[in-house]
Amino acid sequence: MFDVRFGQGFTCLKCERDSNWYRIKAERAFSCQWCGHHLHPTVGTLFEKSRTSLQRWFYAIFLFTTTRNGVAAKELQRQLGVTYKTAWRMTDLIRKHMADVDGEGMGLFVLRPRF
Ligand SMILES: [Zn+2]
Repeated sequence: MFDVRFGQGFTCLKCERDSNWYRIKAERAFSCQWCGHHLHPTVGTLFEKSRTSLQRWFYAIFLFTTTRNGVAAKELQRQLGVTYKTAWRMTDLIRKHMADVDGEGMGLFVLRPRF
């Protein structure tokens, strides 16, 4: 997600230098090589407030995009090994976002660009 939204060489919003960005595992963030400013690639996307791993989210979205009639929460629960409540929330969010599809890549999952 970092590569899609920003990429190496992305100009730091704080120190305004072109930077290499280093992954900070504990925070789902990347850090500027110069000033230590943090970028959070999931902020402003439907993944922002989720504790579910991005791998699970991407797999769920993959299932949605390859299944003609959509995916039931029960099926997602089984395939991802998450609780029914989590699976239901994921299917609900994915459906809402897919309804907004404009067909342009990441635009689908970015709610409001902000850093
Ligand atoms: Zn910086």
